[in-house]
Amino acid sequence: MNTQHNTVWHDSSITKEDRRKLNNHSSFVLWFTGLSGSGKSTIANALAKVLYERNIRNYVLDGDNIRNGLNRDLSFSDEDRTENIRRISEVSKLFVDNGTVVLTAFISPFIQDRERAKEIVSEEEFIEIFVSCPIEECEKRDPKGLYSKARKGEITDFTGIDSPYEEPVSPSLTIHTNEKNVSESVDAILAYLQKKKLI
Ligand code: ADP
Repeated sequence: MNTQHNTVWHDSSITKEDRRKLNNHSSFVLWFTGLSGSGKSTIANALAKVLYERNIRNYVLDGDNIRNGLNRDLSFSDEDRTENIRRISEVSKLFVDNGTVVLTAFISPFIQDRERAKEIVSEEEFIEIFVSCPIEECEKRDPKGLYSKARKGEITDFTGIDSPYEEPVSPSLTIHTNEKNVSESVDAILAYLQKKKLI
């Protein structure tokens, strides 16, 4: 009983294990973190396609999509970034409970927020993938023209320019996208998941 809100958690008649059995695979979160333009979305979406082709139910939660809907009320202040990640973590947890593999593509710049995400989802179902790429290269790619706007001061609180990015200390996996192409990156993640017997 949550006395603050007078709410009670209802146990579902169908469990996570039941749903996993039905799906014939496990469920977990692949949490991609890295600078804007490092390749999180590109790799997550390419991997999602391969998982789909292998009959693995999955869903990509993407920064822009979530910020256009669920989190449209949030800014890019430190406080709102934290709330952004908290909500995404809670949504991810529901997807995992539903037996779905979740791929999240958010900068998620703060170590503490990612630690909290891991706690919300649960440690054994949370795989942190650091999409590493030098900022100079991200800025050269600038797929959405955001670095250019940030440099001109048209966007503030931009990660890597006037807002910090805290690199993961011990991620499950690091992908260097200035060294690997998209398909090599996808293969590296698939190899990791197979080694861990998650797929
Ligand atoms: P993020 O989601 O991290 O902000 P995006 O995936 O939206 O990044 O953008 C990354 C951009 O970099 C895309 O335009 C993609 O085509 C390009 N790119 C170039 N090389 C790579 C690579 N090796 N891995 C991923 N993306 C790459």
